[in-house]
Amino acid sequence: MVIGDQAHGFVGIGGDAPVAVQTMTSGYTWDIDKCVAEIHKLAAAGADIVRVAVPEKKDTLALKEILPRVSVPIVADVHFHFQRALEAIEAGIHKIRLNPGNISDRAQVRDVIQACKARSIPIRVGVNEGSIVERRDKQKRMKELGGVFSNDKHGHLLAIMIAKLEEYLEIFQEEDFHDIVISAKSIDPELVVAAYREISARFDYPLHLGVTHAGPKETGTIRSVVPLGHLLCSGIGDTIRISYANDPIYEVEDGLELLYVLGLRQRIGAELIACPTCGRIQVDLFKLVQDVRKQLAAEISVPMKVAVMGCVVNGPGECEGADIAIFAGDRKGIIYVQGERVANVPEEQILERLLIECRKFEQKVKSGEAKLGEKKVDILPPDPIGTVGSGWEKIERDKGMSLPVVK
Ligand code: SF4
Repeated sequence: MVIGDQAHGFVGIGGDAPVAVQTMTSGYTWDIDKCVAEIHKLAAAGADIVRVAVPEKKDTLALKEILPRVSVPIVADVHFHFQRALEAIEAGIHKIRLNPGNISDRAQVRDVIQACKARSIPIRVGVNEGSIVERRDKQKRMKELGGVFSNDKHGHLLAIMIAKLEEYLEIFQEEDFHDIVISAKSIDPELVVAAYREISARFDYPLHLGVTHAGPKETGTIRSVVPLGHLLCSGIGDTIRISYANDPIYEVEDGLELLYVLGLRQRIGAELIACPTCGRIQVDLFKLVQDVRKQLAAEISVPMKVAVMGCVVNGPGECEGADIAIFAGDRKGIIYVQGERVANVPEEQILERLLIECRKFEQKVKSGEAKLGEKKVDILPPDPIGTVGSGWEKIERDKGMSLPVVK
């Protein structure tokens, strides 16, 4: 499946396409200039797809002005009012998200499907825990909750999610509409994993992964990346949204980083590694790392590996493979570029000099004078003390032993 157009770019979803990062604007869609500015900011941070809320007609009206001014595919997030979907489609939206938990009138869903079909616009059918259990009919709610919270919370909630999805998707099948993405979000990481495993086995549609109402970034990161990472490592997931009660720029940054570290996306920009610091350190490494991170994000576009290390005890081994490395010690920093020592500067000059070297190296990579990862930082740490050998020596001694294989 592909979403987008010539003016906004095309984003492949599913199949061999790389996993796409999605986020959602936090401001009002009707506040056109602010909405456009936020979409630009998120796209510049690397968002492949941006979703906007359209609770009122003034939001869908605004889309007509917003869409020509932005450069990424936009999704209209529709709840309760199917007319908002029709208006968004009319405005030229690239994808619609419908929530079966609050738009379940068959005739209304059919109207949306037909309008999308006429314009080749995909629809995401997104169920989530918060809207899946009945909330208005108290008797029905008690019955469903009784089921949900009896002996197997996950089993019952999951069953309700799947049943709702199946029922909803029947309408799409009847309309012969197959440009569908599915999501099934929960706040519970275990349920998220179980739900996506189940729907990936049952339905042959691309999946949008997410954890709903994950909370502030400080705690939401773990809540999100654990289940999403687990699923992505199993080959499940075609688009992701990490959702925080915070500036959505963090959703984009963390979503991309998750894909980078899992090897599911080609990194854009520098990769920063840094030691955790310990009692051996003699410079303010926390501040240095943050300053380096900000500057690299702002200035460097090639995926060079930069290491900031507190000392030479473990640093050389830990920054193996880095293109540029700095080892701190005694209020100084020794800087290496692809294995070659290029500077030894006092602490207050480390940041500036490191950035000079990163910029120079970037130019060399761009001009073909240097290759990323070609030469390693190769510094000998102090001699180890004692006779217990390395793991490799044990392997050599015990040839034929059965070793675990990392796949
Ligand atoms: S690199 Fe040095 S300072 Fe940093 S954590 Fe390792 S031993 Fe400690």
